[in-house]
Amino acid sequence: MTDDCLFCTLYREGDHVAATDGFVAIRDINPQAPVHLLVLPERHIDSFHDIAEFPPEEAKRMLDFVAEVAAREGLSDYRVVVNAGPGAGQTVFHLHWHILSGGLTGRIV
Ligand code: AMP
Ligand code: ZN
Repeated sequence: MTDDCLFCTLYREGDHVAATDGFVAIRDINPQAPVHLLVLPERHIDSFHDIAEFPPEEAKRMLDFVAEVAAREGLSDYRVVVNAGPGAGQTVFHLHWHILSGGLTGRIV
C-alpha cells in the first residue's frame, strides 16, 4: 500500500460497486462505454508487467472477481482490458482491469 497512489486510496475509501477480500470494483470516472468498471486489487503493483508478484491463488481470485462483477452487473458481452505501460495508454500505475460493455463496435485487436 502506498499513500500517494490514487487507486490505493480508492481501494480504501472509494465508492465501491462490488467488493470481496482483496479486491474492489469502482465505476470509471471517464467512461469509454455505457458500462465502464475498474477492478482494483488491494495489493499494489505498478502494472501488469509485475503480475508475477501475485501469488497464484490471488491472481486466480482476481480473475474470478472480474467475471463475477461483470455477471453481477448483468453483462453477458463485455471487454476486459489491461493497459500495460504508458505506450499502451496506462495512466494510473496501480494494476487495474477495465470492464467495458455496450456500444463496443469492432475489434481492437
Ligand atoms: P489506465 O489509463 O488504463 O491507467 O486507466 C485509468 C483509468 O482510471 C482511466 O480510465 C480513468 O478514467 C480512470 N480514473 C482516473 N481517476 C479516477 C477516479 N478518481 N475514479 C474512477 N476512475 C478514475
Ligand atoms: Zn496503489
